[in-house]
Amino acid sequence: MSNLSFATQYRCTKCNKTYSIKEDILVCPECLDDGILDIEYDYNKIKKIMDNDYFKNNKELSIWRYLPLLPVEETYTKNTLRVGWTPLYNSQTLRDEFNVKALYFKDEGLNPTQSLKDRASVIACVKALEKKQKIISCSSTGNAASSLAGNAAKLGLETVIFVPKRAPIGKLTQLMVFGSTLIKVNGDYKAAYNLSKEAIDHYGWYNRNAAINPNLVEGKKTVALEIAEQLNFKVPDWVVTSVGDGCTIGGVYKGFYDLQQLGLIEHLPKILGVQSEGCSPFYDAFYENRALEETDENTIADSIAVGIPRNPIKGIQAVKKTDGTYVKVSDNEIMDSMKLLGEKEGIFAEPAAAACLAGFIKARRKNIINKDDSIAVIITGNGLKDTKNALKVIGEPILLDANLKDLIQYIERGDKK
Ligand SMILES: *Cc1c(COP(=O)(O)O)cnc(C)c1O
Ligand SMILES: [Zn+2]
Repeated sequence: MSNLSFATQYRCTKCNKTYSIKEDILVCPECLDDGILDIEYDYNKIKKIMDNDYFKNNKELSIWRYLPLLPVEETYTKNTLRVGWTPLYNSQTLRDEFNVKALYFKDEGLNPTQSLKDRASVIACVKALEKKQKIISCSSTGNAASSLAGNAAKLGLETVIFVPKRAPIGKLTQLMVFGSTLIKVNGDYKAAYNLSKEAIDHYGWYNRNAAINPNLVEGKKTVALEIAEQLNFKVPDWVVTSVGDGCTIGGVYKGFYDLQQLGLIEHLPKILGVQSEGCSPFYDAFYENRALEETDENTIADSIAVGIPRNPIKGIQAVKKTDGTYVKVSDNEIMDSMKLLGEKEGIFAEPAAAACLAGFIKARRKNIINKDDSIAVIITGNGLKDTKNALKVIGEPILLDANLKDLIQYIERGDKK
């Protein structure tokens, strides 16, 4: 079965022009890098396949469960890492603490390379195979890079990844274990990005740039498809995600939009976008009702420290079209949320993921979210990726001599933490 028959055309989010899905383009040929494309489907055809029985009988527990809604050929999906179908936990403790009707956590840290980025990277790898490309390249310091490296390794694809000089060792280690060719550039992120662009043009490698490549948002949308299915297609009132480039939130919107077009859900959940106080170009543009402007990247949440977001239109529309909103949170609120999520729910989130919980808390306190609402909070990445920052809130472990007397004294002092 060829699924490309369901994806029909690209539509430019800027000038609205459409292009056949068969065209070999990543961005609108007229608007160039501003012309981010959206992929459109023949929902009438998909409707005939994806009915209620389809889901009941589907034993595929990965994003390929939603193959008719993805712009890839089935052939190349057989041998990938198992991406997606992460748990949606039903919270008791924090639901009661914040007094809402229902609170769910979608733990994306359980993807193969421990972040939501796997949903996009596996699609990039499959597209590269379809195009008979052997080498994929990107520049990144974070989850996009390690995720691409891991997913490519499984499929026998090579990766060349450009990182800035200050890239944290934890994320570099992950890359190197996956056998990536790591180019550590003597300079900042912009320098790494520019060199990678020149190298990609020179060598013709496949370009994994989530913001620009429209296939990647289609991968990210599977998180929304899963949330809906895991709740028997009764979607929550709110879905919360943190926002960097704007691809994740764009994907969340697209997933629910697809389901609405298929008649599988009645209404779209409101989408709450969360940004960091030290880097909030979407928040600022949304409230000042203007175009995005470059901002500083001054936050502990490195995965959403994006001063020049590459997907501004999708990031704003996701919120506007669902009657949602944006909130921003401080680094302290992020770190408090990391601790709370760990202690009350047993989930270890990296700062950009803990920001999602912090955003929910802020929206609840401001009564943007009400006590009658149900909420799904996406925990976008695992905390083991950044233990250095976690230790700042938790504190270093205390060393005891191996005798019972010291132990008793320590425990009964009651100040273990
Ligand atoms: C990339 C990322 C985000 C934000 O996604 P964008 O598409 O950049 O908006 C949030 N959390 C984590 C952990 C990420 O890696
Ligand atoms: Zn265009």
